[in-house]
Amino acid sequence: MAGLVAGARARELGSEPSVMEKGSRAGGSMLLSSGVIWRHRTLEDFRAECPDGDAALQAQIVEELDDALDWLESLGIDPSVRETGNPLTVGRRYDPQELTRVLVRAAGDVRLGQPFADARIVATGGFGARLAREQGLLLRAAPWSEGDGIDYALARGAALSAGMDEYYGRALPGPVPETQFVGASQLYARHALVLDDDGGALPEPAWHESDLVQRFPDGRAWYVLDARALRQPVRERMVADLVEAARTAGGDVRAAEELPFELPRSAKLVEPPFLAVRVHAGVTHTIGGLRIDEHARVLDAEGAPVPDLFAAGVDAGGIFTGGYGSGLAAALVFGRIAAETALT
Ligand SMILES: Cc1cc2nc3c(=O)[nH]c(=O)nc-3n(C[C@H](O)[C@H](O)[C@H](O)COP(=O)(O)OP(=O)(O)OC[C@H]3O[C@@H](n4cnc5c(N)ncnc54)[C@H](O)[C@@H]3O)c2cc1C
Repeated sequence: MAGLVAGARARELGSEPSVMEKGSRAGGSMLLSSGVIWRHRTLEDFRAECPDGDAALQAQIVEELDDALDWLESLGIDPSVRETGNPLTVGRRYDPQELTRVLVRAAGDVRLGQPFADARIVATGGFGARLAREQGLLLRAAPWSEGDGIDYALARGAALSAGMDEYYGRALPGPVPETQFVGASQLYARHALVLDDDGGALPEPAWHESDLVQRFPDGRAWYVLDARALRQPVRERMVADLVEAARTAGGDVRAAEELPFELPRSAKLVEPPFLAVRVHAGVTHTIGGLRIDEHARVLDAEGAPVPDLFAAGVDAGGIFTGGYGSGLAAALVFGRIAAETALT
C-alpha cells in the first residue's frame, strides 16, 4: 500500500514517479486485508497499547490519519463503513480491491513483476515472508515481502528500529489459500482455554490476540472451547462459525477427550461438550524495520538522516512495538509523508 500511496501523492505534487512492484499483481498485503484503516483514539491509548513504539511516529498517525483518509477518498473511493466496530479504535473500512484499483490509477506508472533496483522511497512491506520461513511459521500475507527494502537501506547506512523479533500474528487452522486469510483466522482465544502441546495453559491474550499468537511454543497451540464459548460473537460472526471455517479449511477440530494429554480444570470449561481446535501462528507482517523520523526520513545509528532515502509502511519499524496497530494506517500516513518530504 505505502508505495502506491507515495506514488499517488508524488504524482499529485507534480512529480512523475515509477512504482516498482516485485509481485505479479499490485496491492501487496493490502489487497488481501480486511481494509479497515484505523487508529487508537488518542496518543495516550496508542502509547498504552504499543508502549515500546516511537511516540513521535505514533503521534503522526493519530494526528494525520483522518486527513489522510479524506485524501484517499478524494482519489475516488468511498468507505463501505465509517467505523471499525471496535470501541477502542476509530477508522473506516474500504473494499481492498477497490482500494488497490484507485491507488494504482492515481500512482500512474506501476510496473508489475519488477523488483526495484534503485529507490528514494522504500516500501516493500517488511520481511514477513523471510521471518515465517526462518521460524517455520505460516505466512498470512502476500508472498513477496522478504526484507528487500530494509536490506537496501541497511547497505546505505540505515539503522534498525526496536522490535525486530516481533510480528503481527493471527491464529490459523493450518495453511490456507490467501482468499481465506481473513475468513479462516481463529480470533477467539479470549473465549478459549489455550494450551500448549503438553496441556499447559498459555497466558490470557490482549484484545487483539497478536501477543498470544507470538507466544505459541513452536508456533502451535490448542484452543479448547465449551458449548457456551461457541455461542459468543466475534465481530459479525460467532465462535462456532470460526470453528466451522477451521474444519472447512481442513483444520484439526476434535472432541477435547481426544487430546493427547489430560485437560486441566478451568473456569472456561463448564458446559460440555468440549471441542479442541489446532491453531498455528500466522505471520501477517513484521513490526520492526528501518528507523525513521516523523518525516519518513530513514535514520542512521546516530539519528541522522541517510541522504535522500525515505521509508514507509511495514519497512518503517518501531511504530507498533510491544503491541498492535493498523498497518494500513501506517502505510497511508507515512506513504504520503514520504512523498511530501522527498519532494521538498
Ligand atoms: C489477511 C490480512 C488482513 C489484514 N487486515 C488489515 C486491516 O483490516 N487493517 C489494517 O490496518 N491492516 C491489515 N492488514 C495488514 C496490512 O495489509 C499491511 O499492514 C499493509 O498492507 C502494509 O502496507 P505495506 O505497503 O507496508 O505492505 P504491502 O501492502 O504488502 O505492500 C508492499 C509491496 O511491496 C512489494 N515488494 C516487496 N519486495 C519488493 C521489491 N524488492 N521490489 C518491488 N516491490 C516489492 C510487495 O510485493 C508488495 O506489493 C492485513 C493483512 C492481511 C494479510
